[in-house]
Amino acid sequence: MKEITMKNIRGKEIFLGEEPLQRFLAEVRGEVIFEHEDRYDDARRVWNGMIDKRPALIVRCAGPADVIASVNFAREHGLLFSVRGGGHNVAGNAVCDGGMVIDLSGMKSVHVDPDRRTVRAQAGATLADVDHETRPFGLAVPLGLVSATGISGLTLHGGMGWLLRKHGLTCDNLLSADIVTADGRLIKASNEEHRGLFWALRGGGGSFGAVVSLEYQAHPVGPEVWMAAPMYSMSKAESALRFFRGFMARAPEDLGALASLWSAPVEETIPESVRGAPVVVFLAVYSGPLEKGEEIIRPLREFDTPVVDLSGARRFVDVQKFLDADYPDGMYYYWKSLYLNDLDDETIKTLVAHATTRPSPLTSIDIWALGGFFSRVPADETPFARRNAPYMAAFESNWKNALESPVHVEWTRRVYKDMERFSRGSYLNFPGFGEEGEELLKGAYESNYERLKAVKAEYDPHNLFRGNLNIRPAG
Ligand SMILES: Cc1cc2nc3c(=O)[nH]c(=O)nc-3n(C[C@H](O)[C@H](O)[C@H](O)COP(=O)(O)OP(=O)(O)OC[C@H]3O[C@@H](n4cnc5c(N)ncnc54)[C@H](O)[C@@H]3O)c2cc1C
Repeated sequence: MKEITMKNIRGKEIFLGEEPLQRFLAEVRGEVIFEHEDRYDDARRVWNGMIDKRPALIVRCAGPADVIASVNFAREHGLLFSVRGGGHNVAGNAVCDGGMVIDLSGMKSVHVDPDRRTVRAQAGATLADVDHETRPFGLAVPLGLVSATGISGLTLHGGMGWLLRKHGLTCDNLLSADIVTADGRLIKASNEEHRGLFWALRGGGGSFGAVVSLEYQAHPVGPEVWMAAPMYSMSKAESALRFFRGFMARAPEDLGALASLWSAPVEETIPESVRGAPVVVFLAVYSGPLEKGEEIIRPLREFDTPVVDLSGARRFVDVQKFLDADYPDGMYYYWKSLYLNDLDDETIKTLVAHATTRPSPLTSIDIWALGGFFSRVPADETPFARRNAPYMAAFESNWKNALESPVHVEWTRRVYKDMERFSRGSYLNFPGFGEEGEELLKGAYESNYERLKAVKAEYDPHNLFRGNLNIRPAG
């Protein structure tokens, strides 16, 4: 490649000549992919088929040195860029139009220290990569529910999964992070060094630099756990959610759970007569002593007569893949979320009413039970402010036909707007396209927002890292 036209940080087109480009290419060990190449379309694609961005170049980093070179190159030439972890964010911020993608998805090594029960993973690892390495030691890091998700984005905005009530968010289990900051330094942020930055990384998102590796606390889990997965007819949804509320109020913290207003998937595991039928599903995982699990989850299975019940004891690594098939690459997705103030009867009624208008059977309204360890972390210990929310509702629109996109996006936005009267703040890993801008951030961070802006001013005063749910520098 001799020269290139691309966007600068202000969105204006600029010309990069052969000399600086060649100097940069010589510094990079990984692949650098340009628009004219056959592999370009594959390289720019992310999980959400809604996202169709065309970067000018994609740097598939082979290690931290490539990340440093990329950040320096971007800063020196004022280039627009984005950072890609697993590429699984619905908003598609991992890629950018006309700029450079610093793609970390090839950096996947995971190292477990079984004595200290710690895990160090490179930023491109997926949940599956981490679970695979921790399993032989009977350990797990609290991560999310679908194994193809990237650990980076998940951690930087929180990370909710089956172990949330027992061990907190993924970011609550972060011990340190190696990060390349806007000035091209590779530094370690932890409770000992760069403490302010470390605080910001535990929920504040990708605004502070390119994280190259993350160190986590792991916990003994499984290897087998009990999983509840009964499905009941949607006609029972209101009473099911009232039951769920009562059950979760007394449930042990070893139980992570959500209730989903959905349609039974069209899969072999589901009887033909039930496939596609509107259902309410209880999904719960008990990670306490195996012999107690069946008894603990029994009430969820006996609330009524299920139309199908997929409950059972499973290996935790298989539980982590239980939902994978429902979220294939390249389908169309638009997800928003709100922390519910309560799961009172009025909230339940409204959620169920909205669920009956879902424009796609693949779409769901998921009601995550919070509480436990999650709620005991003080609201200012991490940027994650809504520790007192008892439930979080995710409005997950999923569909197959691109032409229908406006209908699904409009439905999600309408439900979100209507549910705002029962809620405060969004979970930023389900942010739609982040279209509410600063209001979305203020709602999620509340009084932590100003501190995040101050940390941003210290580590990225010119806001180079802006291809994300962007926290602007104070002042
Ligand atoms: C199928 C599916 C299931 C999900 N389930 C859950 C769940 O159970 N629980 C949950 O909490 N969330 C869940 N999520 C949401 C998920 O946590 C977010 O989409 C998350 O952003 C994915 O991380 P990623 O690295 O793949 O994202 P990317 O799309 O690569 O990045 C997301 C954002 O983070 C920034 N970023 C990524 N990596 C870095 C880095 N190393 N340094 C700096 N910035 C970076 C990007 O620039 C971008 O702004 C799910 C998502 C999907 C697609």
